[in-house]
Amino acid sequence: MPKKLLLNDKSVDFFKKVSELSGEVITLCDQCGTCSGGCPIIDEMDISPSQLMRMVMLGDEEVMDTKTMWLCATCNTCTVRCPRELDVSKVAEALRQIKLRQSFDKINIDKIPKEDLKELPQIALVGAFRRLTS
Ligand code: SF4
Ligand code: SF4
Repeated sequence: MPKKLLLNDKSVDFFKKVSELSGEVITLCDQCGTCSGGCPIIDEMDISPSQLMRMVMLGDEEVMDTKTMWLCATCNTCTVRCPRELDVSKVAEALRQIKLRQSFDKINIDKIPKEDLKELPQIALVGAFRRLTS
């Protein structure tokens, strides 16, 4: 759940980094919740897309411990509906980039069962490794 933070240098730096990487003017978000209402995978998320935006606005780095930033599928449903024309998926992508630059891998090929590797479409695997590994 997003919390109220007192802005300090660290949280301001984090906010600026996500803004720069995403290219989005995150402060335009007015927390209307439209993105969350239309997200097709919100049931799998631990925080909603609008909560993710709020945590970034507050410079709360705990947003990088959430499942939501990894689960956003860049489907752009929220982007076409957002009254502020914000792209939540670009913000999620920026968060993933920050985490992956710390040599963090979200998935490990050695931990995927061989049967699954045989059955999963190659294009899905390549896409997942591009998106979720450093
Ligand atoms: S739809 Fe846009 S303005 Fe509304 S909460 Fe989501 S990102 Fe913010
Ligand atoms: S782009 Fe991400 S946050 Fe937005 S609707 Fe699609 S999955 Fe949900």
